[in-house]
Amino acid sequence: MATQEKSSILHKWREQGTTTATEEEITTLLGMSIYEDDFYDLLSISEARSRACYGSRGYVFAQIGINAEPCSKNCAFCSMGKSHYSMDGKWQKDIPQMKQEIENLLVQGIDALFLMTTADFPQEEALQFFAAARSILPNNVNLIANIGDLDIHMAKRLRDSGCDGAYHIRRLREGVDTSIPPEKREASLEALRNAELEIYYCLEPIGPEHTPEELAKELLFARSLHPVAMAAMRRVPVPGTPLAKKGRISARELTKIVAVSNLVVAPSRCMNVHEPMQMPLLAGVNQLYAESGANPRDTHSQTEDGRGINATKSWEILAEGGWFPA
Ligand code: SF4
Repeated sequence: MATQEKSSILHKWREQGTTTATEEEITTLLGMSIYEDDFYDLLSISEARSRACYGSRGYVFAQIGINAEPCSKNCAFCSMGKSHYSMDGKWQKDIPQMKQEIENLLVQGIDALFLMTTADFPQEEALQFFAAARSILPNNVNLIANIGDLDIHMAKRLRDSGCDGAYHIRRLREGVDTSIPPEKREASLEALRNAELEIYYCLEPIGPEHTPEELAKELLFARSLHPVAMAAMRRVPVPGTPLAKKGRISARELTKIVAVSNLVVAPSRCMNVHEPMQMPLLAGVNQLYAESGANPRDTHSQTEDGRGINATKSWEILAEGGWFPA
């Protein structure tokens, strides 16, 4: 790939913004080497976008996994897939437990609370968790649903139970590495948008096998959804999961993808990297996740004792990058 070609794309993106970024341009930049000068130009343009849009405002979101149970969708990257369940326990939280965890998170300071269930978790029951969470959350803390696929009826009920938004993704190689048809994910996203819930999106789970062309297509899809928050997440090779043998991309490679994602999707509120790390803060990441309970990327069913970090630690990492609470 000609250096001139990359440089001229970067020049265009810096001078004119990215609303007219083409699939070809996105693919070219995603394919660049992470050891050349253009890499730093890309990071600089992405950081400049974040600073122009977000100032120095950082955000910490917290996610509580409500249940750790075998899931029939069998995603090949998830520790809770039924055919390769690799978590160290099976359980469901109850509402008092969840409320106690929320109180602890509020003391540390969070901007949004995500409640996550496996795809098989009864959605009627999930609504009770959302309503209970909303009853103790301050108005300035958003409540976000991260549950299985749903129709417009359930999307409206999520909104009525106090949810402000939803985390819902058409994942990379959906229908190949998962048993869910991509069309089903798209239909859920349409229902959520029709119910006027905010969309929290992510390019995930990125592995070494995903090509720049695949990633570019997904970024254009993400852009069409106008998410308030965008993220890029590398796949964790969780022991026991079918995709673990494929390994993972480096933090440096992820930082490049974060920068392109931030510029192309242009989230209105914040840009995230997953899992939390410092390097992508140089590319304008201003939001991190604290996690507790079940986590598809962990074999500890209480991820706060494993891969998950708490909100206080998330704020510390953000501050190192020059991102601060309101
Ligand atoms: S990622 Fe979600 S849908 Fe897929 S197996 Fe895990 S819990 Fe189920």
